[in-house]
Amino acid sequence: MRIDKILTHLGIATRSEAKRLARAGLIRVNGEIVKDSGRKVDPERDRLEVNGEPVHYRSYIYLMLNKPPGVISATEDLRERTVLDLLSKEYRAFSPFPVGRLDKDTEGLLLLTNDGQLAHRLLSPKRHVPKVYYAEIEGFVGEQDVVRFKHGVELDDGYVTLPAELKILETFEGPKGPCSKIELTIVEGKFHQVKRMFRAVGKKVTYLKRIAMGNLRLDPTLALGQYRELTDLEMRELM
Ligand code: URA
Repeated sequence: MRIDKILTHLGIATRSEAKRLARAGLIRVNGEIVKDSGRKVDPERDRLEVNGEPVHYRSYIYLMLNKPPGVISATEDLRERTVLDLLSKEYRAFSPFPVGRLDKDTEGLLLLTNDGQLAHRLLSPKRHVPKVYYAEIEGFVGEQDVVRFKHGVELDDGYVTLPAELKILETFEGPKGPCSKIELTIVEGKFHQVKRMFRAVGKKVTYLKRIAMGNLRLDPTLALGQYRELTDLEMRELM
């Protein structure tokens, strides 16, 4: 692969910057100065350095984002800020996309990658990858809701959801009436599913956060809007 292609792909330099860096003697391959940025190298085997810094080429990236409210789960939009706007130029250069969608007002775990196969596996309706949500609900969530969610509830379009596990964390009397805090695990991803499931049992979601997807759990040290690459262990568990 051409050196300038590697550098542009990684967001390290534009093609003309790569040319200038090479001419200035700032690019080394296996320790030797290379003055031609068009020179081909083996990204897996050759040791590439720019300005004394090693360049680690990889084709795929996997990022865990703690999605804040107010941004949409898309790669571009004419009016709204997207989750890609939260990433640095270096990561955007990999052309990642969100694996599935969270509503604009939903927070929490969103995986961003450019690995289409992994995304496909995680989103395939046949695989029933569990997704865990924490939610705050207007209304009293009780054992009857646990049973209804376990058997499936009928959504507004007639679709009956697959069995879902509802855990009641807390119920209390709020200023405007009864409120509940819950954790819900679903194995599918219908549009606005969690909100519609609660609407089906006469309640309203007032706050929603995804905390897990498959074996991947949201890192609690990530503040809203922060992201990081997955660790090797997280990668292995996800694959
Ligand atoms: N269910 C919803 O209602 N919204 C989301 O963002 C995710 C799941």
